[in-house]
Amino acid sequence: MTKRLAARFGLVGKPNPPGSPLVVIKPTPPPGGGSPGAVPGGGGPGPKPAPKPTPLPKARPVVPTSAHKPLGTPVSNSLIIPPEHQALFGPVLEAIDLVHGDGNLPRIPLSISNTPHEEGSLNIAIKKGFPIRFDSLSLSDKGERPELTLAHEIGHFVEIGGILGPDNRRLQNYRMFNQDPKFEEWKETVASSDAITQLKHIRQLSSTDRDHAKFITYLVSDHDTWARAYAQYIAVRSGDLTLLLQLDRVRSSQGSFVARSQWKDSDFKNIAAALDNLFRKLGWRE
Ligand SMILES: [Zn+2]
Repeated sequence: MTKRLAARFGLVGKPNPPGSPLVVIKPTPPPGGGSPGAVPGGGGPGPKPAPKPTPLPKARPVVPTSAHKPLGTPVSNSLIIPPEHQALFGPVLEAIDLVHGDGNLPRIPLSISNTPHEEGSLNIAIKKGFPIRFDSLSLSDKGERPELTLAHEIGHFVEIGGILGPDNRRLQNYRMFNQDPKFEEWKETVASSDAITQLKHIRQLSSTDRDHAKFITYLVSDHDTWARAYAQYIAVRSGDLTLLLQLDRVRSSQGSFVARSQWKDSDFKNIAAALDNLFRKLGWRE
């Protein structure tokens, strides 16, 4: 899954064929703990291994970490959840609404599949000379952590549909993300975090394994780092117990890639502060 999706994700940076829509798929990190016991970075690409039972840490008690409040339009206004999935996914939107609002997100449907994998994607179409068309957000409700995956995909949605503004023509080339000064503080904080530093180190050690190296390159890319940081930010700032528990599952997984795809609490502190500042600058949080 990872290899295929990462390759598709690679299409994003290439010039679009003139006049032809390009569907961009934003993959989520792979499920489970990767390949237990594999040498460095056992969570590489490949078929999904049987998950090794891992004793789950207890979710931390809800302690408000910030007195700040959301501002702007609730994000929940922008996602249409099928009524039969409201009980599962509604609380994720409630958690997001507790943390921040938004300015100009388009309204899109949530489309649910039942594959047993941790799959999610933001489906958009890019046509040269036209604004990005936002089609849907797809998600499986049978993965190990559907709620955290939804928060991750909404992170992509908030980035592309909201933070970068209505001038979506600029986004035909995703390198714009690198150049937007709004992200500067967040990018610097993430780049100096232990998790990302360690992932890059593992990539060096895995340099002879092209699949591993490719997967880590995807994990440390701005776009997916953003979505993972966003999901963790929502978990810690909302105090939502389900999101916190699923976050712990990722961090305690056996695969060294996957375990480092989310940050330890101490490592995430500055990243969360940088995201506070970003949402404040946007006027989406007090
Ligand atoms: Zn992603």
